[in-house]
Amino acid sequence: GFRRASRIASLEISEIVQLTEHAAALRAEGRDVIALSTGEPDFPTPAHVIQAAHAAALAGKTRYPATAGTPELRDAIAQRNGVTRAEVIVSTGAKQVLANAMLASLDEGDEVIVPAPYWTSYSDIVAMAGGTPVVVPCSMAQSFKITPASLRAAITPKTRWIMLNSPSNPSGAIYSAGEQRALADVLAKHPHVLILVDEIYEHLSYVPFSSFKSAAPELAERILIVNGVSKAYSMTGWRIGWGVGPAAMIRAMGAVQGQVTSGACSVSQAAALAALQGDESLLESRRETLHARRDKVVAALNAVPGIRCPTPDGAFYVFPDVTGAMQRGGYANDADFCAGLLDRAGLAIVPGRAFGLPGHVRLSFAYSEAELDAGLSRIAEILKGN
Ligand code: PLP
Repeated sequence: GFRRASRIASLEISEIVQLTEHAAALRAEGRDVIALSTGEPDFPTPAHVIQAAHAAALAGKTRYPATAGTPELRDAIAQRNGVTRAEVIVSTGAKQVLANAMLASLDEGDEVIVPAPYWTSYSDIVAMAGGTPVVVPCSMAQSFKITPASLRAAITPKTRWIMLNSPSNPSGAIYSAGEQRALADVLAKHPHVLILVDEIYEHLSYVPFSSFKSAAPELAERILIVNGVSKAYSMTGWRIGWGVGPAAMIRAMGAVQGQVTSGACSVSQAAALAALQGDESLLESRRETLHARRDKVVAALNAVPGIRCPTPDGAFYVFPDVTGAMQRGGYANDADFCAGLLDRAGLAIVPGRAFGLPGHVRLSFAYSEAELDAGLSRIAEILKGN
């Protein structure tokens, strides 16, 4: 019969997906459930992007694309990053860029430093590729960012990568150029460590954004930048992301991709090209909308007894400390707390343990004002009695 490979012995469907599916199932039963659990903008994909996809399909761009991406899209990405086409790969979402990179580089037991809180998939992808995630907790007191000292302490001869995500999912933390410089000074002393910088929330920054490579150009030969259209352009379903890195690394990732998907969807690549080349004023107005929602959510949560919510600098999540509220309500941990909220108040949010930092919860504010208002009042209502 079926037996799991040891590589994926404990791999499960992501807790975020499970929770969202549970919320959908309750809704299908007729329960009034609000989900603030997923990380996708509620805005539609821009119309000119959809038109470009339609035109591409009608023009016959429906055949196998080049494995590493269409030349047009790779060149547009290369130009934005000041590199050549050979240093760019287009994949089926930023997620596949991460998977390609780990599959292409990790040997059994290689270590990957993952500062927590981290996007849930990081540790699972590392484990799936045979690596060992080395989770470094970064508390709210340190603004959820890894310090040079804790980075230095986590590096061993087996370290293959560090994964940096700025702006961060789930904390919204953004590393300033100065903070990046300080981390780069540590990494400069450890040339065996590669640096993955996931900048998928670049355009959703409410403070100045600094790209790691511009702060540490001398490390360029070890840096893989991950980015894509999912979050900035509301294109989560089109599944287009990309990696920008040294040509040898990109070639190896292309070899992996060639055996997994053959390459990203041709029509979606035409759509992504239109997004990059089209009017970007939309990014600005959407960011302003999210900024206003952020301020509302932070204020509302900080008014609830037992919740301490820092203001995120980027992305569209808040990651408050809820230990006070947990204690008052008699919940043993953040997962119980979230289960209680879903059960008693019909609100789905994600426990911090899914991001490697228990005692917190993640709420997404990429939802309509009406949903946010309803969700926030449910939290206030249920916690006020405790
Ligand atoms: N990186 C981070 C930090 C994310 O939050 C996400 C999506 O949630 C991704 C990558 C994956 O994006 P994509 O939809 O392009 O696969």
